[in-house]
Amino acid sequence: MDEGYIKFQPFWTKTAAFPESEFHDLLKYRQRCYERKWIGVYPDGIGFGNISERITDSETFFISGSATGSIPILGPKQVAKVTAVVAVDNKLWCSGPILASSESMSHAVIYEQLPWVNGVIHIHHLGLWQYLLNKVPTTPADAPYGSPEMVAGIIRLLETTDLPTRKLFVMEGHEEGIFAFGQDLEEAFGVLEAAYHTLSSAK
Ligand SMILES: [Zn+2]
Repeated sequence: MDEGYIKFQPFWTKTAAFPESEFHDLLKYRQRCYERKWIGVYPDGIGFGNISERITDSETFFISGSATGSIPILGPKQVAKVTAVVAVDNKLWCSGPILASSESMSHAVIYEQLPWVNGVIHIHHLGLWQYLLNKVPTTPADAPYGSPEMVAGIIRLLETTDLPTRKLFVMEGHEEGIFAFGQDLEEAFGVLEAAYHTLSSAK
C-alpha cells in the first residue's frame, strides 16, 4: 500500500486555512466516511481515503490534505485547494495550509471530464473492493495509486463503460481502493452506501 506518497509534481502556495463557510459538505461527509472506517489509518500509520468538492462553477476544488487519514475530526487546516493540473505532465498546483491529497490527480480528471460532478470520494474497504472488482468499471491492475496510468485508466473507463451513470469504480492496481462521485457529495456518498448494502445483502 503506497497511499500518502505523492507521485505528482506539486506547486504548493502555502496560505492560511480557508474559511469553513467556503466548503459545502466536505467536512460533513469526510466524518461520515471516517465513522464507517472508509477513510482512516492503517496500523502502520499510513492514512487512506480522501474526499473533494468542486468550487461552484469552476475547474478548482477543495480536497482533504495529504496524510490526514489518521485525524479523527477534520477541520479547515486539513483542507487544500487544487487550482490547476496538467495531467500529461503530472503537475498540480494547490494552495492552503496543507498539501493536497496524493490522489488529487484522480479527483481532478473526474471534475475535468464530467462538468456536472461536484463531489468525489475515494475510500478503502477490502470486502467491498473484492466484491465489486470487475463487476463495476475497474482500472487496470498495472495502474498504481496516484499515477498518470491511473488517470489514463479513469479517462478510458469514462469513455468506454457506463461509469458516467454508474458513478462508481474500483482500482485493481490499488488494493481496497474504490471511487464514487455525484452531482454533490450527498449523491457520491449514497452511491457508496448503496454498493455497501448490496454487499451486505449478498453475504
Ligand atoms: Zn487509496
